[in-house]
Amino acid sequence: MSATPPHRIPFLDLHPAEDASAVREAVERVMARGWFVLGPEVEAFEVEFAAASGARFAAGVGNGTDAIALALRALDVGGTDEVIVPAMTAAYTALAILGAGATPVIVDVDAETLTMDPAACRAAVTSRTRAVVPVHLYGQAARMDEILAIAERHGLAVVEDCCQAHLSTIAGTPVGSRATAGAFSFYPTKNLGALGDGGAVITRDGSLAARVKRLRNGGQTERYRHLEAGVNSRLDEIQAAVLRARLPYLARWTMRRREIAALYRRLLPATLQTIHQRDDGHVYHLFPVRSTARDALQAHLAAHGVETLIHYPVPLHEQPALARYASHPCQEAARAGRELLSLPNHPRLADADAARVAEAVGAFERGRVPA
Ligand SMILES: *Cc1c(COP(=O)(O)O)cnc(C)c1O
Repeated sequence: MSATPPHRIPFLDLHPAEDASAVREAVERVMARGWFVLGPEVEAFEVEFAAASGARFAAGVGNGTDAIALALRALDVGGTDEVIVPAMTAAYTALAILGAGATPVIVDVDAETLTMDPAACRAAVTSRTRAVVPVHLYGQAARMDEILAIAERHGLAVVEDCCQAHLSTIAGTPVGSRATAGAFSFYPTKNLGALGDGGAVITRDGSLAARVKRLRNGGQTERYRHLEAGVNSRLDEIQAAVLRARLPYLARWTMRRREIAALYRRLLPATLQTIHQRDDGHVYHLFPVRSTARDALQAHLAAHGVETLIHYPVPLHEQPALARYASHPCQEAARAGRELLSLPNHPRLADADAARVAEAVGAFERGRVPA
């Protein structure tokens, strides 16, 4: 028998690969131009990303958190306003609401998709509610029809957190394009990632896009004239150029994520719970499974060289910084936080490695449930 242990399967691989020469060229183009903030690369990326996302306008900003915060500020949400947010998401979704000066109201998620539970959202609406921030978690669209209906009924703005959902659709419509605005992150691990931080707001409202562009640049209307107290949150030229170089690959990378997800769904043991896929618009930013023996499963996979992560172990209503904003106990998010485990799923993961992951999961499940 061979003593060589099987190679490690990392959760992610962020090294540029097939895109490496395009990325290098993009960086060099910006260096040669000698212009690094708010220039032609950002302008061109805004046009290209809006087109790819089914929106009319895009505004590049410093990161996804600021994209959410600036979209809310551009809608004049702040002060005593309440903004409804789901409990299972990156804490940054709620931190962005606080960053805009508003109060997050944390509601539970539905047990099947772990996206915002529309009934919980409806129950949380008060006279102070101004906006809803649904999250397209793991790459799957939230229940937008129901959420948009609630928003319309109560006159609320909807800012979609699309940070995990580049190119994701629901019934064929791109996320971020139906609501008031969509917020994207280009953090390196996202489906479209920069070589650092980046973000964008998309919208079909030209005046909203213009307001975000003003806010990201200190609130200036023209140089050294500050109309309102904005922030410094600009997508820089190098990151915009890198994102332009990568955007043409995104559809193919997305297809690859879907292929791996389909492979997992076929090969994983039936005893293991996966997250329900509502339609084929899912872009599989992550592929979490659920297990009541999650920590043991994670240790078993680590022992077999498979790196996994948890998204997210601590739901918002259990975060010390955010617990006071919970509108109710959020039991589904709490249970998910104890059971979730994300398996490796990225465009460069080989079929053979995905099969090895599934097999290691299968061995664990067989050990748990004696035949
Ligand atoms: C990554 C992420 C954010 C924050 O984006 P940053 O670019 O890191 O600020 C917000 N919401 C969700 C769901 C995310 O995945």
